[in-house]
Amino acid sequence: MADIIKLLPDHVANQIAAGEVVQRPASVVKELLENAIDAGAQTIKLIVKDGGKTLIQVVDDGSGMSETDARLSFERHATSKIQQAEDLFKLATKGFRGEALASVAAIAHVEMQTKPEGAELGTHLKIEGSNIIFQEVKVVPKGTSLSVKHLFFNIPARRNFLKSNQVELRHITDEFHRVALAHPNIAFHYYVNGSELFNLPKSNLRQRIVHIFGSKTNQKLVPVEEETQVVKISGFINRPQFSKKSRGEQFFFVNNRFIKSPYLHHAVLSAFEGLIKPENHPGYFLYLEVDPASIDINIHPTKTEVKFDDEHTLYAILRSTVKHSLGQFNVVPALDFETDPNLETPYAFKDKDAELPKVAVDATFNPFAEPGTKHVATQAYRKAHRSGTGDKHWESLYVGLESKVGKDTDFSSLQFESDTITGSIFEGKLDSMESLATTFQLRRKYIVTTIKSGMVVIDQSRAHQRVLYEKFLRNSTIKEAVSQQLLFPLSLSFSKTDVLLLDGIRDTLTAIGFVFDRIEGESVEVTGVPLSVPESEVGIVLDQLIADCQQEVGGESFSQTDVLSKTLAKTLAVKTGEVLDSASQLALVNDLFACKEAMVSPFNKPVYVTITENDIDKKFI
Ligand code: ADP
Ligand code: MG
Repeated sequence: MADIIKLLPDHVANQIAAGEVVQRPASVVKELLENAIDAGAQTIKLIVKDGGKTLIQVVDDGSGMSETDARLSFERHATSKIQQAEDLFKLATKGFRGEALASVAAIAHVEMQTKPEGAELGTHLKIEGSNIIFQEVKVVPKGTSLSVKHLFFNIPARRNFLKSNQVELRHITDEFHRVALAHPNIAFHYYVNGSELFNLPKSNLRQRIVHIFGSKTNQKLVPVEEETQVVKISGFINRPQFSKKSRGEQFFFVNNRFIKSPYLHHAVLSAFEGLIKPENHPGYFLYLEVDPASIDINIHPTKTEVKFDDEHTLYAILRSTVKHSLGQFNVVPALDFETDPNLETPYAFKDKDAELPKVAVDATFNPFAEPGTKHVATQAYRKAHRSGTGDKHWESLYVGLESKVGKDTDFSSLQFESDTITGSIFEGKLDSMESLATTFQLRRKYIVTTIKSGMVVIDQSRAHQRVLYEKFLRNSTIKEAVSQQLLFPLSLSFSKTDVLLLDGIRDTLTAIGFVFDRIEGESVEVTGVPLSVPESEVGIVLDQLIADCQQEVGGESFSQTDVLSKTLAKTLAVKTGEVLDSASQLALVNDLFACKEAMVSPFNKPVYVTITENDIDKKFI
């Protein structure tokens, strides 16, 4: 058999390498920014157009390159940063693989202008798809300017795979944040489509964080500081009460390199345990310094994963350091997340007058206990058996029932389907509500009502989510949203990127009933809100919306209206634990069964179950 193995031509090898190094415009941004930092730049400019698809340019005032180096820098495995294998274990630079420029030049149009310190003239070089178009001597400032145009011009499949400009820009901005946070001592300018989005002067870390995430960030930051033989930890964590629904502000840097580490993340999470709601995420900016020889950053071409020699020790130190800061800065007592009024004031029944309980203290009452624990069961038992009104205090199992049918009635008065009601209503359809209308609330969680064939148990929160979801969807598609004018415009502050995100979905928000006076910089001025959104909830709704959009943004089926309607439904829906009066119960049931898809919540969870008479009969055999 003839020999068939051949060495790949360089430009093909480069294209293949590019597949690993350059996934999207943000990857190019990362590599170029890191090169500028490695070159010792004091000021770095990042210029981006159309989500990086049209242009990515990085201008630095660093060391620059000689004519030969300028040419060589585009060769694969060409690097000035390591010379021998041992150097890998004492890396002090961001780059070392010598792949980035070669990869980028293989899949884009690249133009470089560079001049080293002291040289009179610099070099101007143009490369397209690994082919040198020209190289000339030129008068240029000290440092390097590298522009990348038409990314993936020769790989249409990759180009088509790119997301919208808005999504790609978001990835770029994330990358920019990471680099800028790792280097507060370098000034950064970031221009998007011709206007300056960030101007970050050289500063300390706290100032850098505040410059990026907005002035209200300052009060959130709690310093973290620890030095051991294994690791030096510094940075900030956000106070627990500012934890957010979005994962947004979570940053680990190891030796000034941004890394992702689920393991270390877990260490921080566990330090926050009990201080934040389970669905919230703590914010942190943590900088770890370790001996370069004790880590391996070469396990992935994008270098965002790191292997530590002694992960377990690091975990323990990190966890206790964060805990220590939380304690030391006295942030623990400030916690105030269980504000669900139903858990704290069990007397808040709508239909009852306030009444002094005879036994004021229940020593076994545990507000954190799951409903359905022994205590509640005891109450239920007592309730079913009591004859007087003596101890009808707090926990009522059948709230709606009680208010409707009187306090001394028990199960016998429940109106199950009677033969006298006519009309051919089939399984799953409710009986004519006006006439029958028996609903009751079970454990502040379910609404129970009868149907022809038996009964339905409805999850109140999911049902309401479904109702609201369909309402918002409808409003936004037929554009008949009614908004309510606020008496005083509401001014809310967010980080610049969050404001940008809101601006991006402004049309959808408007269609649903929001009215904005201004969305710019770090603030948003709201002058009108959809009818069903209470003014006090606007901030929460927008926060949640930002979180949800961030999460969705990478997904294929990102529909703003859908995300928005889901967010509003989730945030505004009645929650488990809320007591509903009979009128609300009934209205909810009516609204639910008028929905197009009453069976499932907007998040694809079952909304109700039916229990047929047959099912019940079987239990009695
Ligand atoms: P690496 O960063 O891994 O060395 P790159 O392909 O990113 O590989 O860059 C190749 C070389 O080009 C670098 O080692 C460096 O010497 C030079 N270089 C790249 N960008 C710059 C820059 N902005 N300023 C000065 N030198 C640069
Ligand atoms: Mg590099």
